[in-house]
Amino acid sequence: MENKPKVVIATSNLGKLKEFTLLLPEFEVLTQDSFGIVPEEEVGATFIENSLHKARVASKATGLTSLGDDSGLIVPALNNMPGLRSARYAKDDATDAENRQHLQQELQKLGLQETKAFFVCVLSMLKDELDPFPLITTGTLAGTIKVSEQGSEGFGYDPMFYPEGHGFSLAQITPEQKAVLSHRGLATQTLRQKIYTFGSL
Ligand code: IMP
Repeated sequence: MENKPKVVIATSNLGKLKEFTLLLPEFEVLTQDSFGIVPEEEVGATFIENSLHKARVASKATGLTSLGDDSGLIVPALNNMPGLRSARYAKDDATDAENRQHLQQELQKLGLQETKAFFVCVLSMLKDELDPFPLITTGTLAGTIKVSEQGSEGFGYDPMFYPEGHGFSLAQITPEQKAVLSHRGLATQTLRQKIYTFGSL
């Protein structure tokens, strides 16, 4: 069997993990759960700080290269919420359905059936816990968030998010299609370029 470099994905979110397995075919993708790493409370003031911290925790626990993903949905009409709180918008340990329902309620309070929004993703790759030059990339995806849900693919807010210039929600396309246009897909493309330029795994 081909020996691929290993990377620990610093998340317990199954939706993200599935996407990274598709997005990073040149790596052997390992989950932090398989090392018994429990997600910590997110305390950073920015996506960058949270992304880097997640990766550092994973590298420290495993001694391996790690990849942190901190991502979320930003809705300008809602004061840029859910933002950093995207995973916990309804409450701590909320399900994706509870978070979507909360977002629908917040939009309806303002009388909005739809409004512009964007997804952001910050990726941090660390060779080890003390790596002084982490590879950090960002990806964004602009679109419209709608109260009405369409589709059953993907995760999180995908059924409510309609990317700009397309007639579908992110939950109505295949994982391969989402990989090409999503914030995570775009951040991964830039990461790959950085790995080839600066990385030596
Ligand atoms: P994190 O694990 O703290 O980075 O939180 C990420 C949260 O943002 C997820 O739980 C989702 O609610 C949301 N999110 C991030 N990326 C996506 C995506 O690609 N589709 C839908 N929701 C996403």
